[in-house]
Amino acid sequence: MKESYSLVFNIKRFDPEKGKSWMQTYRIEAGRILRFTDVLRKINKELDPTLAWNSSCEHAQCGSCSVVINGRPMLACELLVENAVELFGTTVFTIEPIGVAPVLRDLVVDLEKAYDRVHRIRPFIIRPSQNPNQGQEYRISPRAMEGYLEATRCINCFCCATACMSSHRGFMGPNAVMASVVRIMDPREDATDERLQQLYSEEGVYRCHTSKACSHVCPKEIDVAHFVALAKEGEFS
Ligand code: SF4
Ligand code: SF4
Repeated sequence: MKESYSLVFNIKRFDPEKGKSWMQTYRIEAGRILRFTDVLRKINKELDPTLAWNSSCEHAQCGSCSVVINGRPMLACELLVENAVELFGTTVFTIEPIGVAPVLRDLVVDLEKAYDRVHRIRPFIIRPSQNPNQGQEYRISPRAMEGYLEATRCINCFCCATACMSSHRGFMGPNAVMASVVRIMDPREDATDERLQQLYSEEGVYRCHTSKACSHVCPKEIDVAHFVALAKEGEFS
C-alpha cells in the first residue's frame, strides 16, 4: 500500500465578479488517509488560497461539503485519498459543484436556494393529529416507526438531487419527496391530503424516472428511491 499519492485535481472554478468559469488543474502530493476536504485545504495552503469550497462538521453529518467527483455526487469529508483511488481507479479527479443550486464561487453553492426545495414541502408536522394518549406524550409504536426510520438519517446533502436526472426538469427532488413521505408515515401528522396534493403536483413524484440513482449515491445509504416509489404508489404503511 502506498503511503502517499501524486494527485491531479481538475477543479471547476467560478469568479462571480468577472462572471467567468474555467477548469483549473492542481498537482499535489497527499497522504493516503487524507480526506478530500484535507486535500482541498492543502491546496489552499500550498498552492492557491483563492480556491473556495465549503465544509462544516467534516463528520458526514451536515451535508455542506457535497461536490461532484468524477461525475459522482459525494461528501468530500468522507472520501479518503486511498479509497478514491480505488473507487475510480485513477489519481486524476475532476471536482465540480453540485448542480441543484446557483454557484456562488468555485465549489460553493447557494445552499439556501437548495434548501428551498425542502422548505416548500414543509418538513415538519403541519397539522398535529389527535393524541390517543390525552395529556401524555404522543407515543409512536416501534412498528410504525420502522417504516420511515431509515429516512430520518437524511442530512440534506443534495447528492441524490444532484444525481437525479429529473432534478433539472422541475422535480422537487428525491430528498424533498422523502421528507414529505416521512411526515405522511408519521402518525402525528394529520395533513396527509395536503401533502399528497403536493406530491402529485407538477413538481411531484411523477417526474421521477425510477433510475434509482438517488439510492446509489446517498452517503447515508438510504434507499431514497424506495420512499419515492411509496409516494408514487400511495402506499405508506
Ligand atoms: S437522501 Fe441521502 S443523498 Fe439525499 S439528501 Fe438525504 S442524505 Fe443526501
Ligand atoms: S429514482 Fe427517481 S428520484 Fe431517484 S434519481 Fe431516479 S429519477 Fe430521481
